[in-house]
Amino acid sequence: MITVDAALAIVLSRVAPLGVETVPIESAHGRVLAAEIISDIELPPFDRARMDGYALRSSDAQIAPFSLKVMGEIAAGAMFEGEVKDGEAVKIFTGAPMPDGADAVQKVEVTESDGGTVTINEAVRAGQFITPRASEISAGEVIARPGRRIAAAEMAALASFGYATVKVYRKPRVAVLSTGSELVPVSSKPQGAQIRNSNSYSIAAYAERAGAIVENFGTVIDNPEATKEALIAAFRERDMVITSGGVSMGDYDLVKAALQEIGAEVYFDQVSIRPGKPTVFGRQENTWFFGLPGNPVSTSVTFNVFARPALRRLQGAESPQLPTVQAELANSITDASNRRSYLPARLFIKNGRAMIESLKWVGSSDLVAFMNANALIIVREEVHEITAGDVVDVLLLNEI
Ligand code: AMP
Ligand code: MG
Repeated sequence: MITVDAALAIVLSRVAPLGVETVPIESAHGRVLAAEIISDIELPPFDRARMDGYALRSSDAQIAPFSLKVMGEIAAGAMFEGEVKDGEAVKIFTGAPMPDGADAVQKVEVTESDGGTVTINEAVRAGQFITPRASEISAGEVIARPGRRIAAAEMAALASFGYATVKVYRKPRVAVLSTGSELVPVSSKPQGAQIRNSNSYSIAAYAERAGAIVENFGTVIDNPEATKEALIAAFRERDMVITSGGVSMGDYDLVKAALQEIGAEVYFDQVSIRPGKPTVFGRQENTWFFGLPGNPVSTSVTFNVFARPALRRLQGAESPQLPTVQAELANSITDASNRRSYLPARLFIKNGRAMIESLKWVGSSDLVAFMNANALIIVREEVHEITAGDVVDVLLLNEI
């Protein structure tokens, strides 16, 4: 059995980014950049008015009030042909380029105009209400590097610098397969010992949120031949296969035997984690494999701790792991386990401070309690009691 840190190190040292593809900007949101974004123009491209008002020469405007002759106007998208001279002003609108000769703007609120002349009621300093040319960025600068996730703000930058198409890492194709003879589809009412297959849906949702293209392979019964056949089908042309169940020590835990039969390499099959000890990580040719334990909370925890970083790494993400933060514990907890525990918890803000409350759960099948978790409290191997008020490490289940 290896530690969580050792297991994660194996995953992150083995998994490397998939190839790169070029997508139209319309499809770039949420992808990971595979090339630098470089500014092809300076921003702003000209000295730009920040207010509606009058462009003028600050040398005219040291002592208010004073009057200037209005020579014309400039709206956003227009240029002023002439030059502003002593005693002159040009009406200007937010975003418009400054006319030659003018070095300041006075806002319309402190002016009065009859059209031909304008009276400026407040003195003006040089540069006032102007965003100077290239003050935000010059041309040819690297403004984002590969590995960065394209969020809304990055979309604005891509658009501004003319990226009609964007180089991004390819999305991983993931097959999800649930094992267990007890499993019935969502549309059936479970009878006797049956259980509805819920893991396929949580894994698919987590994987899609991590950027994967998911195909649901449904369920397979606990039969060696059937398990092997289902795995062979799932592995075909996929970047990753994620299974649930069938990895513990029971007679019907057939996944590892099937992996061996199809010639897959297994890098670890037991991790000192609670919940989720029998987690399996391996590879068959170019396809990565995660065998997650079947209890729904174990499935979710091990997905987020191990499989998610692998999916993000496949997409070249520079920080593939979910963020860890510190928060003040709201309720005392005890944890008898000598493994590293990840306890379902709810992070909340109280008086501006991050607090964390561990959730009451019946056990690792308690998927309803897990619905209220937005984080996992990390309890280190050697720690067995933590008192309310102590600061603890918390793995967030969402990106920040
Ligand atoms: P296993 O890891 O196969 O021993 O399964 C452990 C427990 O998780 C069993 O009680 C299963 O019924 C339950 N379980 C396994 N697979 C699923 C699934 N796909 N959806 C919901 N529960 C599951
Ligand atoms: Mg099972």
